[in-house]
Amino acid sequence: MINICFHYLDQHFLGQLDEIFDFHDFHQLVLHHFNNPFDYRFTLANKELDLFSRQSFARYQSLLMNGVCILVLKRMSGGGFLEIPVLTDIILQDLERAVQQIPTTNNEERPCQICRENTSCMKLCCNRICKVCFGNYFAHSTFKLNCMTCRRQVPYGQFFISPEFVRALESLNEICGLMNYIDCQICHCGSLVVNEMMED
Ligand SMILES: [Zn+2]
Ligand SMILES: [Zn+2]
Ligand SMILES: [Zn+2]
Ligand SMILES: [Zn+2]
Repeated sequence: MINICFHYLDQHFLGQLDEIFDFHDFHQLVLHHFNNPFDYRFTLANKELDLFSRQSFARYQSLLMNGVCILVLKRMSGGGFLEIPVLTDIILQDLERAVQQIPTTNNEERPCQICRENTSCMKLCCNRICKVCFGNYFAHSTFKLNCMTCRRQVPYGQFFISPEFVRALESLNEICGLMNYIDCQICHCGSLVVNEMMED
């Protein structure tokens, strides 16, 4: 099975394809989640997928591997989309180091909330999470520290140690907040893509 994740705003839609699939199968999968695919842009590895052309499907089919994420943006009339990779680059580059600085405790009775295997974990609000699972969790929550149990948003400074790293995350959020009118998405393939709303 090939698992494909569609990210749209804060939502993730998981879809599955057989190992051998064709244009039609992929199209059906998209239609299952997006009634009117013409209203959206589907991007993968910073390339926009042309869902309606068999020819272009042949070119990107090999990118549709198990575990890929397709970033979905609402199509705006006349709008392009603009990437601001600088901040996310900084964050992704420093994320590993920032995570390494966080102390873990070992507790056989309370393994990681996600993998349920690793017993050496960091504390995140009500839960414990291991360093292996953290990266994916963080990207999927669009770089927010939402508690998986009580849903509270944990301030970065209460989790990360490095003040510079906390500041980088805060400015990223500020940018996303300022651009309220813009769909702001961060994908764990490392790109932050904003869908620019054009003025009428
Ligand atoms: Zn996802
Ligand atoms: Zn884990
Ligand atoms: Zn909590
Ligand atoms: Zn991704």
